[in-house]
Amino acid sequence: MSIACLVCGAEAVEEKLDVGSHPVASFYLTQKDEPENNVRLALGQCTNCGTIQSTDLVPHSALVPPYDWIVAMEPEEHLDTVADQVEALLGDPEGKVVGALTYKDDTMVDRLVRKGFENTWRIKLDEDLGISDPSASNETVQKLVTKKRMAGLGSKLGQADFLIVRHILEHVEDVPEFVMGLSELVKPGGILMLEVPDCTSNLKLADYCMIWEEHSLYLTPETFAPLSSIGGFESIRQDVYERPFENSLVQLSRKTGEPGPVKISADAKKQVGALTSYADRFEPACKELRTKLEKVRDEQGPIALFGAGHLACAFVNFMGVADLIDFVADDTPQKQYKFLPGARLPILPSSELVDKKIALSLLCLSISNEEKVIARNQDFEKQGGVFRSIFRESSRSIFD
Ligand SMILES: [Zn+2]
Repeated sequence: MSIACLVCGAEAVEEKLDVGSHPVASFYLTQKDEPENNVRLALGQCTNCGTIQSTDLVPHSALVPPYDWIVAMEPEEHLDTVADQVEALLGDPEGKVVGALTYKDDTMVDRLVRKGFENTWRIKLDEDLGISDPSASNETVQKLVTKKRMAGLGSKLGQADFLIVRHILEHVEDVPEFVMGLSELVKPGGILMLEVPDCTSNLKLADYCMIWEEHSLYLTPETFAPLSSIGGFESIRQDVYERPFENSLVQLSRKTGEPGPVKISADAKKQVGALTSYADRFEPACKELRTKLEKVRDEQGPIALFGAGHLACAFVNFMGVADLIDFVADDTPQKQYKFLPGARLPILPSSELVDKKIALSLLCLSISNEEKVIARNQDFEKQGGVFRSIFRESSRSIFD
């Protein structure tokens, strides 16, 4: 059975991988036995446009976190380079308008202000979109970016010469409506910056922590490139900024035409089939992991996770290894003494790694922070504890 594609609309999405039904990762439990709402997580690929996508979208209302202290941190290292490119494209700042969609765009706006682009705006959740829930964020914004609503905001705020849209496209449910909405915010001839995570290496390495209920699209450079064409944009440049786990894909495109259906490229079509081998390796990966962790428990001692975020949830819940883990170490005060969704594992201060004589601690935080965390937990290693990583791309991966 084929499903309608979120990008091209063709009834051509074939589901390939189902990692089961699990609770939303931001719903930390305050009691271990609290009831939970599960959502089904499955991926398919469109045989028409090549886009890998969720085949069972979680309604955005189910994704609004029950806490207001959850903030997504996006990579920033490449933004100085992008700001230089944008400055060269825009020329004299005089009279130029810089627009932005969400809080994730603020640091890019700041970089342009420092270059003299002082005429800026960013869409306000309450005033411009009518959002009153303080915990609501991009899961709600993506739904409200429609052609009609953005046409109104484009007139109110002034269409931008440069519009920044970082790390939200991969959350979008109705891609044509969203991109056409963005087009309404940009002047004819104006430039759009789109940024998304690159799934290439996770697909290749078979890392299942890539899957997240908040993401609707799992893009690669090939399937990302055509998306702005929906808004009448033509790519000026697209760059891959290398990062561990997920590269950042940045496209700068110019509004040269009218909105319309996505212009599917031959390169994107060639991606068809990429999801199949990823899906085929899932069950063997779960078995391999279980065997490894059982051996550690038998021969060395108890196992803990380190970092109670959505990546830890993905690892322990999708791979089905909660029964082999004792607890999750995390030094974020708001998370401590709550329980990890799905796995129902207690979240405790990292000092417990020593106190509970943990043998293996599996790092579940950004690969670029692994060194820092290890340096801060010298006592654990002195006691004989070992740090490994849940990520395939890490040099200390548990799968190696
Ligand atoms: Zn498609």
